[in-house]
Amino acid sequence: MTTDPTAVHKRVLIVGSGFSGLGAAIALTRAGYSDFVVLERGSDVGGTWRDNTYPGAACDVPSHLYSYSFALNPRWSHSFSSQAEIHRYMRDVADRYQVREKMVFNCEFTGARWNGAQAHWEVRTSAGNFTADFFISAAGVLCEPRLPDIKGIQTFEGQIFHSARWDHGAELAGKRVAVIGTGASAVQIVPSIAPSVAHMDVYQRTAPWVLPRLMRPYSRPERLACEHIPGLQRLWRGAIYANRELFVLGQAKYPRMQVLFELIAKAKMRLEVRDPQLRRALTPRYRLGCKRMLISNDYYPALGRDNVDLVADGIKEIRERSIVAEDGAERAVDAIVLCTGFHVADSPAFDKVTGRDGRTMSEAADVEGYIGYKGTSLATFPNLFTMLGANSGLNYTSLIYIIESQIAYVVDAIATMDRKGLRTCEVRPEALFEYNRAVQRKLAPSVWTTGGCDSWFLDKHGRNSTLWPDFSFRFRRQLRKFDLDAYETT
Ligand code: NAP
Repeated sequence: MTTDPTAVHKRVLIVGSGFSGLGAAIALTRAGYSDFVVLERGSDVGGTWRDNTYPGAACDVPSHLYSYSFALNPRWSHSFSSQAEIHRYMRDVADRYQVREKMVFNCEFTGARWNGAQAHWEVRTSAGNFTADFFISAAGVLCEPRLPDIKGIQTFEGQIFHSARWDHGAELAGKRVAVIGTGASAVQIVPSIAPSVAHMDVYQRTAPWVLPRLMRPYSRPERLACEHIPGLQRLWRGAIYANRELFVLGQAKYPRMQVLFELIAKAKMRLEVRDPQLRRALTPRYRLGCKRMLISNDYYPALGRDNVDLVADGIKEIRERSIVAEDGAERAVDAIVLCTGFHVADSPAFDKVTGRDGRTMSEAADVEGYIGYKGTSLATFPNLFTMLGANSGLNYTSLIYIIESQIAYVVDAIATMDRKGLRTCEVRPEALFEYNRAVQRKLAPSVWTTGGCDSWFLDKHGRNSTLWPDFSFRFRRQLRKFDLDAYETT
């Protein structure tokens, strides 16, 4: 294998500038590293918070928890932040920590291959080739839209787009709009556009559980107090964090505890949905938490509007100007919004990375499952670190907590290798399999496994390769220090 002689060499190469890539760039800088680059396909930092600009886009983790620990923001306007506010925050952090100069924007990552002879990664991009000693994959988890494979979808003649690629040129006001999917994105989109469209059909395949959203604006005195009283915001954040950790008990350990939340969700539905037939269609038939719990105060009221219908019969086919449900009913439609989620365990990005043995991440995952070590390392992929990799996702609290844990581990890994004069590290199979046995053991009683639903947490074999099954502080504890013993090194 010969390396492109014009390739630019970097000590560390990061793909993606969402919370993971941006945070990694800042951490490397703070640790004294300057020989690194961040490749970003968009024209700005922000990842999923740059791309998801659909009406109503907001975070369902409380604002004071949803930020970097080293850059708290006392000026959040609401208890839950909007997409625009989070994106503004990320841009501000990028400026404040002066990492934009390390970023190559509008640069599409097209592939990476481990060169064993040279002991480096060869990375191809739309802006030229790179080589790097370390490769940090921070390309994101919820970033590759999953388009549904519905008969006739290609023949639709109206406007059609995915929630994460919102077409701001599409004029939906006064139109007949179909929304397909009823996950976290849909419950924000439906109430945001329902008042302005002529008619909306919401196509539900599986009813979601919906809990109240404790949303309120922060008052000026609250914001001033956060800004000027030392430690107050950190204390507040700590209280929110501790409160969210309690969700682990019901979700990962004792799913029967979820009954409590189901009672709250059912009471909410009773209050907000007057029509018993609609209530029946909206009542989930699996344990709460098995799919991602949703929070909304305006989704059910939107479904009760005169111009909105819930269609729970499944979709048979899409025609040029209509959607036909499984029961044969055909409904005319001018535009379709696909709220059908993302490729997670089968991300197309996995096809682009080829490891030591010539297999791509997808090929390796196909045989062994998507198995990672501490969510951060993969066998046969030396010197590669995956941000939010296998079994590092969370369903109940801020992913930024996980991201920061991983960043600290990766920076320590690079520093340790430098100190010891090592070139490559690759997780040992024994460490990897032992780790995964423990993770899967912990997942066995969880609501994601036993709750009676199908979700994007599970891969095509029904194996949960997505979520961390324990308290998040336990995840952080195991990544506190780079454990060189678990790695084969050269
Ligand atoms: P999602 O949760 O994966 O929901 C996809 C929806 O589309 C589901 O209702 C699914 O039905 C339906 N669907 C998929 N394929 C379909 C098909 N062929 N025909 C009919 N229906 C189909 O996707 P999402 O709402 O974009 O959310 C993804 C994740 O992003 C969330 O779980 C969350 O982690 C994150 N997110 C967070 C926020 C927030 O913080 N507020 C907002 C948006 C997204 P089934 O349930 O039957 O599969």
